[in-house]
Amino acid sequence: MNCNKSSKVSSIGNWLQCREFIEGIGSSKGTICGKWRRALHFEVQTDDWECFCSVQWDPYHADCSVPQALTEEAKARELF
Ligand SMILES: [Zn+2]
Repeated sequence: MNCNKSSKVSSIGNWLQCREFIEGIGSSKGTICGKWRRALHFEVQTDDWECFCSVQWDPYHADCSVPQALTEEAKARELF
């Protein structure tokens, strides 16, 4: 018997981190967004990936002003 669990395909099974730089206000230096967003499985992490990139499959979260959808714990659970 060949039980291949990897044949289960999900179109969304990836998490990428937003690298959008958010400018600081006044004298503060600013920071990167750093939120994790759900992404299609063929999307890859790049140095300039940003929340807006997910607009095609998850428009609700495709903005740096929207809080991250899940905690690290929930993320790990879903990936498992
Ligand atoms: Zn962002």
